[in-house]
Amino acid sequence: MADSNFIDYVKILCRSGKGGAGSRHYHRAKYIPKGGPDGGDGGRGGHIILRGNRNMWTLLPLRYTRHIFATDGESGGAGRSFGKDGQDRIIEVPVGTTVFDAETGEFLCEVTEDEQEIRLLRGGKGGLGNCHFATSTNRAPRYAQPGQPAIEKAVVLELKLLGDVGLVGFPNAGKSTLLSAVSAAKPKIADYPFTTMEPQLGIVSYRDGKSFVMADIPGIIEGASEGKGLGLRFLRHIERNAVLLFMVPADSDDIKRDYEILLREVREFNPELADKSRVLAISKSDMLDDELMEAIREELPEDVTTLFISAVTGQGLTELKDILWREINSEENAVPSTITHRALDRRHRVEDEDAFIFEQDEPEDEDMPITDEDWNDEFWDEESSVNG
Ligand code: GDP
Ligand code: MG
Repeated sequence: MADSNFIDYVKILCRSGKGGAGSRHYHRAKYIPKGGPDGGDGGRGGHIILRGNRNMWTLLPLRYTRHIFATDGESGGAGRSFGKDGQDRIIEVPVGTTVFDAETGEFLCEVTEDEQEIRLLRGGKGGLGNCHFATSTNRAPRYAQPGQPAIEKAVVLELKLLGDVGLVGFPNAGKSTLLSAVSAAKPKIADYPFTTMEPQLGIVSYRDGKSFVMADIPGIIEGASEGKGLGLRFLRHIERNAVLLFMVPADSDDIKRDYEILLREVREFNPELADKSRVLAISKSDMLDDELMEAIREELPEDVTTLFISAVTGQGLTELKDILWREINSEENAVPSTITHRALDRRHRVEDEDAFIFEQDEPEDEDMPITDEDWNDEFWDEESSVNG
């Protein structure tokens, strides 16, 4: 995948900004010798925020990003002046990006909608200045809160395609050809395995200006779910497809068996996938005469809607679109994101270890000792976020 424009996996070290310290200051003026405390609050540290962008199709723009750091909040000042908040860093990602903790593999969140914003790491809250701590017995508090510390986390961003229809078939089944026949996508077509090295998306126009997305996923081969071949890394892309279109070519020795192998692969990868709506297309049907077609019809699997198509002659393509459209829009298939997230599996990580080396900067100024006693959370309104 080295030269590919399709990047579906990146690892980034993220750090929010720490909160600015509250100020410890006393009001001073010529004729007010004993002014009260007037130290202002520190600013909030910058958040790390993910934002969905439906115009992005790959994680390529983040490919060489090794770290993303938000800036710290500034300290509060005299005269109750607030410190400036640190700057948030917004990471734009394609819709369908899932985020995992790179160390534990734990699932953190998923961006499912355009313009959706998820706070990945919360910036530290600013400390309260000493003006908040004056009491009747202590009019000149020497105490001001430090800011909350920054949060640092290495995360893996993984992209799952949000196609409505995912093509599932062995290499050479005719997936790329179908995609180019029904959409404007121009995938590479050749009669040797593994032509399609990266997933291709096509917008299929349906009637009345309606359209849906079809994703050609690189061929899976027998045993792919156990790590054989190229298929494994791509299988996860079909997790998000509403409908799986299985394709077995008409010249297969045993169409039913091939279909069952494909189904087993899919199921072994993630059992919930087998619950998705399925359609089986017998591709390259232009190679069949009526007699052969009848013979094949006798032996087709019964648990799936089946039809004969040919991307070359156009046979069955209108019917195929009708069926797919119906399945995509059926109530049962409306919630593609119900798939349980597996923790990031080691097998699914790319081999290119170089991609994971961080040029980790030493965090500067660690001068502010933070202990649990420093925190007095009642001053802070609790908000929820990924990091709690
Ligand atoms: P993929 O690996 O599943 O993407 O398969 P391709 O789309 O690359 O097609 C593999 C081979 O099958 C190519 O040589 C295509 O020309 C051929 N092919 C694809 N669709 C048809 C079809 O409908 N009829 C015939 N006769 N050949 C086809
Ligand atoms: Mg192909």
